[in-house]
Parts: sequence; structure tokens; C-alpha cells
Amino acid sequence: MATEYTRDFVGPIPALIAATDPANLRTWPIRDRRPLKQWGSGRATIIGDAAHPTSPYAAYGAGMAVEDGYFLGRRLAGVDLADHQQVRTALDEFEAPRRPHTARQSQTAFVLGKVSHYTPKPLRPLRDAMLNHTPLLQKAVGEATPGEILDQIAEVDRAEAAFTTRPIS
Ligand SMILES: Cc1cc2nc3c(=O)[nH]c(=O)nc-3n(C[C@H](O)[C@H](O)[C@H](O)COP(=O)(O)OP(=O)(O)OC[C@H]3O[C@@H](n4cnc5c(N)ncnc54)[C@H](O)[C@@H]3O)c2cc1C
Repeated sequence: MATEYTRDFVGPIPALIAATDPANLRTWPIRDRRPLKQWGSGRATIIGDAAHPTSPYAAYGAGMAVEDGYFLGRRLAGVDLADHQQVRTALDEFEAPRRPHTARQSQTAFVLGKVSHYTPKPLRPLRDAMLNHTPLLQKAVGEATPGEILDQIAEVDRAEAAFTTRPIS
């Protein structure tokens, strides 16, 4: 089946796949999921792909997982882990700004994946002309995404400032 899917790929990919023992070939389906309305419950939360699985078209899923780890760590720093309410508040404060940011990125990746790989055949020349000859992709992704990543770096600066000035209990 893999040789069939990749028959029209540029060389040497079809030859490499044809030369591989079928027992060592894996297909890796990519699925999209709607953004979750809530990540945490009680003393537990989720981060990374568990919270916001993002297809590769954003090239940012691992980046957001790392960001999650950082912001979660900063929110929990100094919190009395035996105090349920303190932990819950920290998890809510962690989650509130992360959900909209990660949802935007995963939804952008979803749309890019659809446009890139699922445009009906008759519409593909139109899609290619639009991507090649209009500033749409540059505006929607090339300019917007770096801006949103820079916003996250500014968030890191704010979290660092709050962390270094917050008294540890
Ligand atoms: C083809 C492809 C290209 C990508 N390219 C990029 C890119 O260019 N840039 C980018 O930033 N991101 C990219 N990503 C996304 C990135 O790989 C993921 O967003 C990132 O790996 C998520 O990290 P994570 O730690 O949340 O989850 P994972 O990396 O999935 O880690 C979860 C781990 O938990 C383990 N696990 C699962 N269940 C259990 C269990 N019950 N007990 C113990 N362990 C368990 C799993 O084995 C796994 O090791 C790409 C993804 C794909 C598929």
C-alpha cells in the first residue's frame, strides 16, 4: 500500500520504499481534533499533544508542548502542592491563556493541511495560483505565525518578571 501512495513522489523516495522490507513500513495517519474547552480537572492537567494535538502543518506542536511545560512550571513555582485550592488556581491561570493560543495554531494547521492535501482535483490549479501569486499565505501564515510566536516570547518575559518578584511561600 505504501508503494502505491508514494508512486508519484520524487526520487529516490519510491525506490527507497520499494527496497524496504514491508514488515518495516509504517503508515502514520494524521488526525485533527477540535480544541478542548477544558484541560485540567482537580489537581491534574494535561499539556502538549494531549491537550492540543497539532498536525505537522504548523511545525509548532513540539514548540507549544515545550512552552506548556515552561508556563506550567512557572505557575506552580512557590505553590503549596498540599493546598488543593492553590494548585487549582495555578492550573487555571496556566490554562487560561494557553487554550486560545494553542487552539489558533492547531486550527491554522488544520486549514493548511486541508488546503494543501485535500483540495478537490479540479480546484487545485486555482489553489496553486492563489498560493503562488497572491500574498494570502504570506499574510495568513508567514506574517501572522512569527508575530504570535513573538507574543509568546513576550509572555515568557512577563512570566520571568512575575517569577523573580513573587515571594516564595
Ligand atoms: C510528521 C510530523 C512532523 C512534525 N513536525 C514538527 C515540527 O517541525 N515542529 C514542531 O514543533 N512540531 C512538529 N510536530 C509535532 C510534534 O512532534 C508534537 O507536537 C510533539 O511531539 C508533542 O509532544 P508531546 O510530548 O506532547 O507528545 P509526544 O511526543 O507524543 O510524547 C508523548 C509520549 O508519551 C508516551 N506515552 C503515551 N501513552 C503513555 C502511557 N500510557 N504511559 C507512558 N507513556 C505513554 C508516548 O510513547 C510518547 O513518548 C510534528 C509531528 C509530526 C507527526
